[in-house]
Amino acid sequence: MDLLERKVKEDGIVIDEKILKVDGFLNHQIDAGLMQQVGQTFYEQFKDEGITKILTIEASGIAPAIMAALQFNVPCLFAKKAKPSTLTQDVYHADIHSFTKNTTSTVIVSNEFLAKDDRVLIIDDFLANGDASLGLNEIVKQAQASTAGVGIVIEKSFQPGRQRLEDAELRVSSLCKVASLQGNKVTFASEEVGTQI
Ligand code: 5GP
Repeated sequence: MDLLERKVKEDGIVIDEKILKVDGFLNHQIDAGLMQQVGQTFYEQFKDEGITKILTIEASGIAPAIMAALQFNVPCLFAKKAKPSTLTQDVYHADIHSFTKNTTSTVIVSNEFLAKDDRVLIIDDFLANGDASLGLNEIVKQAQASTAGVGIVIEKSFQPGRQRLEDAELRVSSLCKVASLQGNKVTFASEEVGTQI
């Protein structure tokens, strides 16, 4: 998505060589028009998959996920960060290591919202090491539902997330691929010499 790459270039702030801040349009203030296009693009990519539910993780996955849910006309479900007291038998759960916070937390999804016959599209804002998406896929497996794929707004392709998801036999579709954050600047995979995506 050209528009997304332009937004990342113009508004993205390189925090260090691994972290990109996009608070201006995705992680704090949200560009609703851009998110609508994000939702439409995921719909085009996965429309033949019989998707019945969009699954994400709170909080920053919710904006792109809800826009995708609107296009598919299915519910948007988000995994919540759990307190031990909320970890009952009625929930599916996974431990997810946060790349940005460097902490591990348990996330839960109530078993009333995910069932065997669900076909799930996992959506997240970023793909780094893949822990968030793998944790969500674990929750889908606990429900004996199936994952059609993972839709990512910004993939950092210099990190191992895609490989780990593909090793788990998940289809990964990202809307823009950041190849490097070196030198305090964003370089997209599409800009690298000799690379075609
Ligand atoms: P992963 O689980 O793939 O390692 O990391 C993905 C999760 O970490 C996403 O849910 C996202 O919130 C957060 N994340 C990873 N990398 C970045 C980044 O460069 N910037 C921001 N803002 N969040 C990130």
